[in-house]
Amino acid sequence: KARVYRFGSESADGNRTMKNLLGGKGANLAEMSSIGIPVPPGFTITTEVCTEYNVLGEQVVLDMIKEEVESSISNIETIMGTTFGDEANPLLISVRSGARVSMPGMMDTVLNIGMNDEVVLGLAMKTKNEQFAWDSYRRFIQMYGGVVLGMKPASKEDIDPFEEIMEHLKEKRGIQLDTEFTIQDLKDLVYDFKEAIKKRTGHDFPSNPWDQLWGAIIAVFNSWNGERAVYYRNMHGYPADWGTAVNVQAMVYGNMGNNSGTGVCFTRDAGTGENVFNGEYLINAQGEDVVAGVRTPQQITKLGSLRWAELAKIDEEDRVENYPSLEELMPSIFEELNTYQDILEKHYRDMQDMEFTIQDGKLWILQTRNGKRTGAAMVKIAMDLLKEGMIDEKEVLLLIEANKLDELLHPIFDPDALKRAHVIAQGLPASPGAATGKIVFFADEAKKYKNSILVRIETSPEDLEGMNIAKGILTARGGMTSHAAVVARGMGKCCISGAGALKINYKTRTLTVGKQEYHEGDWISLNGSTGNIIEGKVATIEPELSGEFAEIMKLSDKYAEMKVRTNADSPKDAKVARSFGAKGIGLTRTEHMFFEVDRIKVMREMILADTLKGRKQALEELLPMQRADFEGIFEAMSGLPVTIRLLDPPLHEFVPHQLETQRSLAEDLHISLEAVKIKVAELEEFNPMLGHRGCRLGNTYPEITEMQTRAIIEAALNLKERGIPCKPEIMVPLVGTVKEFELQEEIIRTTANTIFEERQDTVEYLVGTMIEIPRAAIMADLIAEKADFFSFGTNDLTQMTFGYSRDDAGKFLPVYLEKGILKADPFEVLDQAGVGQIVKMGTERGRRVKPNLKVGICGEHGGEPSSVEFCYNVGMNYVSCSPYRIPIARLVSAQAAI
Ligand code: PEP
Ligand code: MG
Repeated sequence: KARVYRFGSESADGNRTMKNLLGGKGANLAEMSSIGIPVPPGFTITTEVCTEYNVLGEQVVLDMIKEEVESSISNIETIMGTTFGDEANPLLISVRSGARVSMPGMMDTVLNIGMNDEVVLGLAMKTKNEQFAWDSYRRFIQMYGGVVLGMKPASKEDIDPFEEIMEHLKEKRGIQLDTEFTIQDLKDLVYDFKEAIKKRTGHDFPSNPWDQLWGAIIAVFNSWNGERAVYYRNMHGYPADWGTAVNVQAMVYGNMGNNSGTGVCFTRDAGTGENVFNGEYLINAQGEDVVAGVRTPQQITKLGSLRWAELAKIDEEDRVENYPSLEELMPSIFEELNTYQDILEKHYRDMQDMEFTIQDGKLWILQTRNGKRTGAAMVKIAMDLLKEGMIDEKEVLLLIEANKLDELLHPIFDPDALKRAHVIAQGLPASPGAATGKIVFFADEAKKYKNSILVRIETSPEDLEGMNIAKGILTARGGMTSHAAVVARGMGKCCISGAGALKINYKTRTLTVGKQEYHEGDWISLNGSTGNIIEGKVATIEPELSGEFAEIMKLSDKYAEMKVRTNADSPKDAKVARSFGAKGIGLTRTEHMFFEVDRIKVMREMILADTLKGRKQALEELLPMQRADFEGIFEAMSGLPVTIRLLDPPLHEFVPHQLETQRSLAEDLHISLEAVKIKVAELEEFNPMLGHRGCRLGNTYPEITEMQTRAIIEAALNLKERGIPCKPEIMVPLVGTVKEFELQEEIIRTTANTIFEERQDTVEYLVGTMIEIPRAAIMADLIAEKADFFSFGTNDLTQMTFGYSRDDAGKFLPVYLEKGILKADPFEVLDQAGVGQIVKMGTERGRRVKPNLKVGICGEHGGEPSSVEFCYNVGMNYVSCSPYRIPIARLVSAQAAI
């Protein structure tokens, strides 16, 4: 098999479809070359070789690729008319990484390979530019030394050893900028750099071009397993066995004088999506100078230049004189570039991000790729491309990156303000958005400030109200499905969870990060999309739901087959969800309704009652409250199906744990504090998630199921009287045996029949079950004989299939992800190979008995793109997710069906 693929001179061995083998960059270079774009010739060593290298080691792999690399170098030599290592007419080359997806700056690059003491003289002669030749040599040793020979700062406080030498020389010579070095300075630097390398590594700097080349190739392979790359891979869930390709290419120079230059450009605006060609360039510069920010880059188009000058407050004379656009300065090069950008965008049928270099009046395109863009730009560009006839409706939907829609649904930080932000720590990006406010440590103090950030070690259901009031939530513990995370996502509230670096002291009301201490009332800001915790106040801007966004949603619904419902616990949530296009409610967690102040007391009264009579009395009081809630929700959903789940959490969660609250409860109920304490202790469980919860409650206290059924059915009847249709679906949680379900169903149906009798009226309703215990999935055929519908509770199903406690997994999951034991957090991304197979089996077994069984999902995965796609493939009728994830699920549902 081939391990090396060539490109250049309008032909190529590979093409754009070969990203997995050639990496994104390599595939694109091949593609560009074959459609006649002038790319510097070169070749790509495949990603498979990287994997081979990791297994077989350096020597074996170098032997394997030696011949192919040598003949490919001579191919470059033929095209460029230069020779690698030749003193009079040298070929210089670059070696770059290139994974199948772009990992900007995460891996290594070496430029100017082939340079040595003789070649530099030849280059100076040939280009008649001694300054350029020596500057290239200086850059080469610096880069090669850092990347290949490990000449890095000794500790993070130290500066780069080469920078140190340069600073020293600048001081001695009384100059400020790199560009002020004389030829002699550059020669001295080359000498000093080599000395420093010898001193530190004990070896001479390699002067043989071939040694340089092999060293650079190995270094790029190694950088795939470098710290930065591993971190980036883990963050994005890219597997370690992808490997990186290595691109070897003829160097072209933008720093050969004033007839040379380099730049980056976009076929459209990556921030707004506006259809304007734009970009930046520098005359007489190398690629990294444009991004490094030492010199102010100039705009490519005249339009861009005028806009820029206005922002930078630069008058027209100054602009024309000092910052002319490429369009004005080199009109014919600009025209050529403009032609290529047009060809490339039409060819790739997407916005392109290109790099180019002008070497002595000749334009070379170094790279093109689908440009990164903001969520807003993504949506606008996709719809514009459709309107321009470049892509069709299905392609529009495939161009949209589902998770990026999130940006359009939450307030965001002002990008300018973010540039100046000081990040103090990072946690899990549990719920996206931007929040800025004053620190409070207790939920009941959230309203103390107009804008508050609730900072907790972890949150509990008691904190619900405060969480709702706060602008954002920050916790030191907990994972992506911790209480804080789930609730925050439901509320569409920004949340960062599991920020382990935070030390929170409730007593002193302080938050400590490293040596820095923050107090109640201090401003902090949370970026829920990145997990960054920022000191102080950062300005936010409200998102605009543009017309194009609505158009994308309309298109999604046209192609989607699977419906999207929402998880909603209140009429308010239900209304938000409908505005985002929910086609029903897939889960109402009724327990959330019990946490409001006036209700929690009655709830506690019920729990603390020792007799059935006492419990019934309290339930009697809760009934009208629940009924009103349900009426509100049914009304908000006007006729769409609403799944209401019976009480699920262990009762322990409802009783007070702080002495003060216990005391006031004792007073309210006219019992002793001791009695309260005993009851609280009785309810305590070693393993509450596997304890007395779900239908186990309803089966031990049938009166709870009775009351909840009554509230649901009466609410439905009341609405019917008002002429509002509704479709209640009563759902039994945590079923593991058929009998558990049967008993609950019997109570529900008997209660409903009694009410129908009382009211002399009926409504249609369903009784179904959650499938969230592995045993239920195994017994799904028997359960389906009884149940009207299934809803997979993949939070619990993941917990119980993996045996990972939802509330404790935060302690080891980060390590597991880092070590690659898991590829993704299974509470966030459905584990298709394991938990997913249980979902599949449960669905199949259920449908074997009832072919039309309605099946959905209501775990957190219902709003996660890859999981939604899986649900579609399993044949689910709907997914249910928090309101703010609905547009994402609608889109993915369409993408899956395309
Ligand atoms: C689940 O377990 O997936 C579920 C939806 O229920 P809860 O998160 O309330 O346990
Ligand atoms: Mg559950």
